[in-house]
Amino acid sequence: MLNFIRSDLAQLTAYQPHPGGTSGEPVKSDTIIDRLDSNESPFDLPQELKEKLAWNYQQVIENNRYPDGSYIALKSAIAEYVNESVPSTINSQITLDNISIGNGSDELIRSVLIATCLRGEGAILVANPTFSMYGILANTLGIPVVTVERSENDFAIDLDAAQQAINQTKNPPIRVVFVVHPNSPTANALTAKELDWLRNLPENILVVIDEAYFEFSQTTVAQELVEHPNWMILRTFSKAFRLAAHRVGYAIAHPQLITALEKVRLPYNLPSFSQTAALFAMNHRQELLASIPQLLAEREQLVKQLSAHPALKVWPSAANFIYLRLTPTNNDPSFQLTGLTKQLKSQGTLIRQISGGLRITVGTPEENQRSIQRLKTTLESL
Ligand SMILES: *Cc1c(COP(=O)(O)O)cnc(C)c1O
Repeated sequence: MLNFIRSDLAQLTAYQPHPGGTSGEPVKSDTIIDRLDSNESPFDLPQELKEKLAWNYQQVIENNRYPDGSYIALKSAIAEYVNESVPSTINSQITLDNISIGNGSDELIRSVLIATCLRGEGAILVANPTFSMYGILANTLGIPVVTVERSENDFAIDLDAAQQAINQTKNPPIRVVFVVHPNSPTANALTAKELDWLRNLPENILVVIDEAYFEFSQTTVAQELVEHPNWMILRTFSKAFRLAAHRVGYAIAHPQLITALEKVRLPYNLPSFSQTAALFAMNHRQELLASIPQLLAEREQLVKQLSAHPALKVWPSAANFIYLRLTPTNNDPSFQLTGLTKQLKSQGTLIRQISGGLRITVGTPEENQRSIQRLKTTLESL
C-alpha cells in the first residue's frame, strides 16, 4: 500500500509531542498538573502584555493578508538584543543580515540540514545524550547521523572520538556538528576544551551552537561569531521569553550562511500573531527576563534538596532544568525510572524520563515543592 512513499520512512515513527498531561496515564480530573517536562517557563505573559497582544490582534492584524515576510522589525529588535551581550567593538556587532527567523528553532535546524547535507552530500555529528531533534530531523531527510558519547561523570563530549569521527567519516563526510550550550538534557555548558575544539574545526564544517537556554546560563559565543564564518548560533523565544505557544526561533550567523538558510525557508513561515508576540517580548524583555533570578534560585533549591537524597545523583545545572539519575542498586534502573515517572504522572507531576535519567524543569515554587515531596515519597515506595 502507498508505494509512492519513500521506503526509508517505514523505519521512522512520528515525533510524539508532549500531551500536556491529558492523555496517557490516567490523572484524576481535579488534580493540578505540574508540567515540568518541556523546559518552558512556568509563567505566562503578564496580563498587561496579553491584553496589548489581544488589542493588536483586534486592531492591527489583517487576517486576510499574508504576514510581513521580511521580518525587518523583529530582526532589528533581535539584533539589538544580541548585541547587548557582545562587547561594543564595532566589528563584532551583528546586523539584520546576520539573522534568519524560524517557526521555532526546530524549523531552522531543518533548514540547516537541507542547506548543508541533503542529496547525500553530508552527515551530522552529535554527542549523546543531547537534544533529540537534530537526529530526528536528519533521519527524516535521509541524512546520516554520527554519534559520539559523553563522559558519565560530567557529560563532557568525548573529543577524541569526535575528532576521529570527523577524520574517518567519508561518503558522505561530516558537514555539521551540533552542540547545545548548555546541553539538554544534561544541563552542562560547553567547557573551555570543547570550545577550543570547536574553534579549531576546519571551515568546511558548520558548527551549530544551540543557545536555547542562553538567558538562564548567560553563556554565549556571540562575541566570537564574526571570527568564525562557519559558526551559527540558534536561539528561541520558547524558553525564557515565555512564548512556546508562538513558535519563534532565530539563527545568528555570517550573512552568506544566512542567505543559504533564506533560500530554503518557506516564504511566510512566521504567522503575523507570532511575529507580533516576539516583537513585544523583545520590547518588554527587561520585564520578562526579571523572572529569571527567581527561577535560578529555585533551581538551586531543587538541586540542594534532591542531592541530599541518597537514592539520587543530581548534576549541576546552567539552565532552567535539572538532570538526575538513580544511584546504582540491584534493580533495573530503567524499570525503576519508568515506574517513578508513571507514579509522578498519576499524581499530576510531569517530568521527562530520558537517557537513563530524569529531566525536571524548574517550575514555580509551589510546583517545585510538590515535585520534591512526590519524588521523595515515590522513591520510598520503589
Ligand atoms: C527547547 C529547545 C529548543 C527550542 O525549540 P523551538 O522549536 O524554538 O521551540 C531548541 N533547542 C534546544 C536544545 C531546546 O531544548
